[in-house]
Amino acid sequence: MLITLKEAATRLQAANRILITAHVQPDGDAIGSTLATMQILRAMGKTAEIFIDDSVRRNLQALPHFEQIRRPADGEHFDADLLLVLDTSPDRIGNVRKLTDAPLLNVDHHVTNIGDGYALYVETKAAATCEIIFKLARELGEAITPAIATCLYTGIATDTGFFQFSNTRADTLAIASELITCGVSPHFISEQMEKKTLAEVIGLRDALNTLKIYYGNKVAGMTLDYATVSKFDSTEGIIDEIRVIDTVDVAFLISERAPNVCRVSMRSKDVDVAKIAARLGGGGHIRAAGCTLKTTLKDAEKILVEAIGKAL
Ligand code: 5GP
Ligand code: MN
Repeated sequence: MLITLKEAATRLQAANRILITAHVQPDGDAIGSTLATMQILRAMGKTAEIFIDDSVRRNLQALPHFEQIRRPADGEHFDADLLLVLDTSPDRIGNVRKLTDAPLLNVDHHVTNIGDGYALYVETKAAATCEIIFKLARELGEAITPAIATCLYTGIATDTGFFQFSNTRADTLAIASELITCGVSPHFISEQMEKKTLAEVIGLRDALNTLKIYYGNKVAGMTLDYATVSKFDSTEGIIDEIRVIDTVDVAFLISERAPNVCRVSMRSKDVDVAKIAARLGGGGHIRAAGCTLKTTLKDAEKILVEAIGKAL
């Protein structure tokens, strides 16, 4: 069920114990939006706790209040009267679903999220869920402290590739500008987000060695086996190295997370990769999407390259 921003605000005002979560393999927008919302709700006098069923990449651990994020333990229960799911549809929150039976409120910006069977405020034009949380804070009449602004700016900056991707709009920059007025230091966030260890840069070299080109230079892909994936704290951003090839429309990265578990990332300049990902059981945005293929690295490559070929 689709609801308005006002209705989402009303549901938050009515709740007292809110469990906040976001998708597994959390990115800057997932962590930024949950941390910002936790602070906003606590300022309103509510109990608000974040549970995410995954580890958080090192770069994002620099965000204010990061240490508050918990991972659900086996059999754990959390007494909540609202489950707030950010930056994803509720099917990608892992075991957080088992923590509570509280009613669900979903706030997201993914086109593939249609709110089937749950209350959803979705703004597909928003570059990041953090843009929506900024508006929600205004709707709730809550102040944006420097710490909240830092979390929101990080989500917006990372989801737009630091204001370079096609989802960057005038509104995106206007909100970013307001956040800087609220106390954000853009260079501090850029420095934290771009940091890499030596092992990661060496891993990047290994990743680029797997580069393959398909369909007359229109598609470029990398396939990282488990040993290579293990060199990285996160594989986020690796795909950007090949997305930039001038002839390439669709770039992909397949990373083997475990035997027969391959994570797929896709980026495009034209083709709707959200559709391709959705057909393979995933989702995302028109120009950035992903899915998981439960098969070998070789098979995953074959399945994906075929699916992309059909969409070209
Ligand atoms: P990334 O390639 O950065 O992991 O993901 C690109 C975009 O697609 C992100 O917005 C992410 O949330 C979405 N996405 C990635 N994998 C999946 C998936 O398995 N299911 C869904 N619904 N969305 C995904
Ligand atoms: Mn996002």
